[in-house]
Amino acid sequence: MPGYEMFGDEERKEVNEVLETGILMRYGFDGPRKGRWKAKELEEAINKTFGSKHAQLVCNGTAALTTALACLGIGYGDEVIMPGFTFVASFEAVLSVGATPVLVDIDESLTLDPEAVRAAITPKTKCVMPVHMCGSMADMDALQAICKEHKLILLEDACQSIGASYKGKYLGTIGDAGAFSFDFVKTMTCAEGGVVLTNNANVYTKSDGYSDHGHDHKGVDRGADLHPFIGYNYRISELHAAVGLAQIRKLDKFLAIQKRNHAALKEMLSKVPGITFRKIPDPQGDSCTFLSWFVPSAEVARAIIDELKLKNVLAGNFYWYDNNWHYIRKWDHLKNATTLNALHPELKAAVIKQANKNFAASDAIMSRCISTLINLSWTEQQLSEKGQAIVNAAKKVMATQAV
Ligand SMILES: *Cc1c(COP(=O)(O)O)cnc(C)c1O
Repeated sequence: MPGYEMFGDEERKEVNEVLETGILMRYGFDGPRKGRWKAKELEEAINKTFGSKHAQLVCNGTAALTTALACLGIGYGDEVIMPGFTFVASFEAVLSVGATPVLVDIDESLTLDPEAVRAAITPKTKCVMPVHMCGSMADMDALQAICKEHKLILLEDACQSIGASYKGKYLGTIGDAGAFSFDFVKTMTCAEGGVVLTNNANVYTKSDGYSDHGHDHKGVDRGADLHPFIGYNYRISELHAAVGLAQIRKLDKFLAIQKRNHAALKEMLSKVPGITFRKIPDPQGDSCTFLSWFVPSAEVARAIIDELKLKNVLAGNFYWYDNNWHYIRKWDHLKNATTLNALHPELKAAVIKQANKNFAASDAIMSRCISTLINLSWTEQQLSEKGQAIVNAAKKVMATQAV
């Protein structure tokens, strides 16, 4: 997954072009910047690469989700249906606009279970937010049908699935809006950065203003800009955009390496009886940032993790079920709605209720799942050692445990 593994002269050249002018801000300073507009250039490259009509860069993926939610008109009193397996940023964004995160179960795709979405719809539901976890996708046909039927907004958290697609369309460009993250460990990085993708000109114009204090950006003088609504500062800097510009040019290469390494690793693991793989709604569209695999039980999964730890080869294998960042089970701060400042009591009660629901269906899947990160920098030998270590651990555990 991580573009940072291939940081080099291309990134340095782009950053140096910004350092030469010293204009680190994306807006204004038209003369001194000598025609260098890295953020604008990256937005154009994003639209060209992913086929979106509009792209608004912001300072990170969380800000991209927040901006998209606000610009889609989601706020107080609205419920946003999202999966219980994601990164904490997804619910942070929902809370930051004052809306209620309604967490629901995932299925073996490791993304939203469409039936769980359907069951969670209430008169307050305004938006469905699939999270395309670990490089692959949610069942977009099913989710689009639900949104159409119930007149709901579809917002894609595609932060972890840059370059993945579903039936020929890039993830993030299928719903009313989508978000990518360019943080340091994502498929391509700006160090910190994110983007709102949309085909809706109105959502884009709002995103452009919202992420820069509500400025309407109609004139050439920032001081004279009008503010049609209240915004925030979620701007990206030219330095960050410059890094992203070098990275997006290498994206095809990153994806090709990921797909190759993923296929080789999958081939090795598929020879182990008892190992099965994540359901992928459109296998051709998998960006292959992770290989996610299942074993028959939580006991087996934990024993494999212990064995990998013992052999000192655990790095890059993630058991999300016991992980504090990605799965509802360990999100005590959300379950208790622990905030530093006061939440509206109604929202606080709703958050506590939502986060403490029964997620047995998700537990049954997540407790058996291990995801192996696909690195870009593996040599063939490293890849084969990695696969062999997993195969050995899995075989050893499953031979000794009654499964
Ligand atoms: C990384 C990530 C985000 C947030 O991105 P940041 O750029 O780190 O703020 C949001 N959602 C998911 C699923 C992510 O993995």
